[in-house]
Amino acid sequence: MVSSLGKGISASALGALLQARGFKVRLRKLDPYLNVDPGTMNPNQHGEVFVTDDGAETDLDLGHYERFTGVNASKYDNITAGKVYQQVIANERKGKYLGKTVQVIPHVTNAIIEKILYQVKNEDFLIIEVGGTVGDIESLPFLEAIRQLRNLLSSAKTLFIHCTLVPYLSATDEIKTKPTQHSVKELREIGIQPDILVCRCEKNISIDDKKKISLFCNVETRNIIQALDVKSIYEIPSLFFKEKLDARVLQSLGIKNPKQPNLKNWNNITKKQSFLKNNVEIGIVGKYIELKDAYKSLVEALIHSGIKNNTKIKIYWIDAGNLKNLKKNIKKLKGIIVPGGFGSRGIKGKLYSIKHARENNIPFLGICFGMQLAVIEVAKSLLKINNASSSEFNKKNSKNIIGLLTEWFKGSISYKRDKYSDYGGTMRLGTYSCKIKKSSKAFNIYSKTFIRERHRHRYEMNIKFEKLFLKKGLLISGKSPDGKLPEIIELQGHPWFIGVQFHPELLSRPLKPHPLFNSFIKECLKSN
Ligand code: GLN
Repeated sequence: MVSSLGKGISASALGALLQARGFKVRLRKLDPYLNVDPGTMNPNQHGEVFVTDDGAETDLDLGHYERFTGVNASKYDNITAGKVYQQVIANERKGKYLGKTVQVIPHVTNAIIEKILYQVKNEDFLIIEVGGTVGDIESLPFLEAIRQLRNLLSSAKTLFIHCTLVPYLSATDEIKTKPTQHSVKELREIGIQPDILVCRCEKNISIDDKKKISLFCNVETRNIIQALDVKSIYEIPSLFFKEKLDARVLQSLGIKNPKQPNLKNWNNITKKQSFLKNNVEIGIVGKYIELKDAYKSLVEALIHSGIKNNTKIKIYWIDAGNLKNLKKNIKKLKGIIVPGGFGSRGIKGKLYSIKHARENNIPFLGICFGMQLAVIEVAKSLLKINNASSSEFNKKNSKNIIGLLTEWFKGSISYKRDKYSDYGGTMRLGTYSCKIKKSSKAFNIYSKTFIRERHRHRYEMNIKFEKLFLKKGLLISGKSPDGKLPEIIELQGHPWFIGVQFHPELLSRPLKPHPLFNSFIKECLKSN
């Protein structure tokens, strides 16, 4: 109905609830935009690009799906209009439609249905989130596809849940059901009658209001589920259970005597989160700070490790492009993170922050671009290579310690590209193994020599500088199994200065916080 209602989180929480009852779930997202994937979109507009194990660049909702259900998403779980049209047009060029006129219905809608059901094998529930809002031109083929899908699979096996907003007007102290009525009306016009409404609201929806919504929207009163605002998203599975969302879903689908859900883990998290004893100030120095969603997984990873360390994390968003403010604010921080990023804007601020963390023994975590810049900062300050840089910035006369990777291996498969390759989907993407050196801080943190982490980058630190850096205390403590690609760096003699070429935040889960973040927060607390 409107964006940012929390469709993704609602879908994830329902998934978690069904899972807690012993069902196998998979979540998929339909995105109506024409980009093939969000990899080429500005994070300030679209939010974080979430990377799957198999290397797809996807919508950030897939991060929620993984965090709530623990089920690793695949490249088939994010279906964009771009992907659908790309396939339909490729089929047309190959003559696969046998002379027919290619149309939205049935060719595009068939392609969507095919993708929705692709490689779904033994899941009990497939939860499909349709992105966008009802009434968008782009969403129409997707809504039409799910309408058809219901006929295809039968109404006994399918269910429509519609998320709406029930606004509260403080001036008159009342909630308003009209917007919900309108949005359902619009859905019904295109042939979709929702079975359940999840109504976002800041005040309780009375039984009378539920009856009113029920009457106008043709949805049973008991299927009007209120979704009150909460302090933490991890309360939502338990909240939805109290509101009986999962029970209503199961009953509507005729599933009799389901197992009661085991919500111990979720309840534990909620309880812990409401009594956090410590506080710590962490700075994230980035250039996409206007939209916090640009660093969604990072923020969640910090929250997860905060809960583990009994700590409330206060995040300071530091604009890498505003050096004056940065210099002022950086002094308050107990820990500094330079996250992933692209391009040259904001580099000065990031390098300044890294130097500040290094010189003042402040715990520092550099992620991907953050690691590359940490290497450059150490090269400039300690190795005295004044023109140390990355070929990403393409400056003349620079010494590129970080360079464009043109060939690498995933298992026995070789991947190649050059500077003229397409931009979309051509990075080192997805999960790769990393071998950790035994006598290192990284080994102490992970307690193992082989780890697997997710990547998304085009450039790499050049391994040939290894010895030079080691002389100044910068150890490459993690490498690709063939020893060619540096994956983890750490500064010896500093309490906690680590850079990783991968994105650990993508694997952190509320029920399984990531060891790197756990250790980072623990160290930040020491100076409290
Ligand atoms: N821009 C850098 C690269 O492409 C880092 C990317 C990132 O931080 N995800 O290698």
